[in-house]
Amino acid sequence: MDTDRRGDGGWGDVVATEPYRVAPGSEWRSELYRVAVEQFRRGAELLGLEPEVSARLVEPRRALVVNFPVRRDSGEVEIFTGYRVQHTLTMGPMKGGVRYGPGVSMGECAALAMWMTLKCSLLGLPFGGAKGGVRCDPNRLSRDELERVTRRYASEIFPIIGPDSDIPAPDMATGEREMAWFMDTYSQQVGHPVPEIVTGKPLVLGGTEGRDIATGLGAVFVLEDVLGAQGRSVEGSRVAVQGLGNVGAVVVRELAARGARIVGVSDVSGGIVDPDGIDVDAVFAWVAEHGFLRDFPRGEQVSRKGVLEVPCDVLIPAAVERQITADNVEALDCGLVVEAANGPTTPEADEVLAGRGIDVIPDILANAGGVTVSYFEWVQDQQKYSWNGEEIVARLRLQLQDALARVVEARARHGVEWRTAAQSVAIERVAEATRLRTIYP
Ligand code: NAD
Repeated sequence: MDTDRRGDGGWGDVVATEPYRVAPGSEWRSELYRVAVEQFRRGAELLGLEPEVSARLVEPRRALVVNFPVRRDSGEVEIFTGYRVQHTLTMGPMKGGVRYGPGVSMGECAALAMWMTLKCSLLGLPFGGAKGGVRCDPNRLSRDELERVTRRYASEIFPIIGPDSDIPAPDMATGEREMAWFMDTYSQQVGHPVPEIVTGKPLVLGGTEGRDIATGLGAVFVLEDVLGAQGRSVEGSRVAVQGLGNVGAVVVRELAARGARIVGVSDVSGGIVDPDGIDVDAVFAWVAEHGFLRDFPRGEQVSRKGVLEVPCDVLIPAAVERQITADNVEALDCGLVVEAANGPTTPEADEVLAGRGIDVIPDILANAGGVTVSYFEWVQDQQKYSWNGEEIVARLRLQLQDALARVVEARARHGVEWRTAAQSVAIERVAEATRLRTIYP
């Protein structure tokens, strides 16, 4: 009998009876998925995870691809491709953002869905991970076109989402507005309001206090605690931030309010650097007026990636994935990296950073504030009872502190860097659930 091993390099131990003509899982193979699997592999090896369980955790459980027509304002019809990838059904309903961007693909969503599973597990939330999105250039679409894209995408993935099965949330280029359209579309289909179908909604539609700032604020809380444990503080620290969106803008505001010196910022249009500290109010006023940072009249202009190389104490990538790679890692001049974005550092760059003694606080911990407050939102929607902003922030802080403590403990126990420690804590919990549920039937 011919046999063929599933996955790359023998990852997983599922054996087929005939050779595959198409490499198994090739649907979601991508550079970002490779990064996610490599990170997972390091955590799994540390735990000595049995191949049967790794095989079940390394690939997504379901992936839906949809192609749908949308009428442009010009009257023309354009076909868009969207995805929803569900990574793990073991821990509870699935949870994960929806992003719009020209690079959105099944492989990208698969990597992000795996990170969502691990993030939820690390934070002790009763969710598995998912991710979705639409391949488009949101900057090229009008408000009305974005509404039509959002509503049609929501209808297309309707069969696999639900408040007890898969709950979308904002991610890149989506926010409260898109979540309101999403919630309305879903509610129209079922015939009554279903606020708990998405998180990150406007407050008046069943959103929660604090969701809009949760991811950025969470990253700041984690940074404060990491520095605090070293007898240092955010106040007076030199910080550079890549990305000025939902996450990056909050990081910049919250850190500036705590007395950090912001020495570099960038968005998709470019960056600026000023070792004496950037006037962040002026930056936000400029971006509000012009849409982008480009041509901001003060400081030294650098490229959008150049901001990563500015001398600083703390570097916070808060934009897109794969920004710190083998190509630029040697040029980094920081003491600590805090991954507010998902997947900004490749495994090759991780190794160089570890060799240089630069700690990397990984995404599944540093940006977990978003999904944590999304969980609070979902719980409030289910209970039909709202908590106040102070309660939300206090609970967020506690939940992140608990997760950080578990990672610190794993680091000490295993003598590994932050990412592998965080992965091991996250994998351990989801692996235990996987073993306990065994295999159906
Ligand atoms: P966003 O679309 O609101 O903002 C993205 C920002 O990055 C914008 O300022 C954009 O101009 C900039 N940008 C885009 N491409 C860039 C590039 N190549 N170089 C420099 N800047 C670039 O997105 P967001 O919601 O803030 O998400 C940012 C990151 O945080 C993503 O990795 C996302 O997955 C992650 N994240 C977001 C949330 C959330 O709650 N929104 C939660 C967890 C993680």
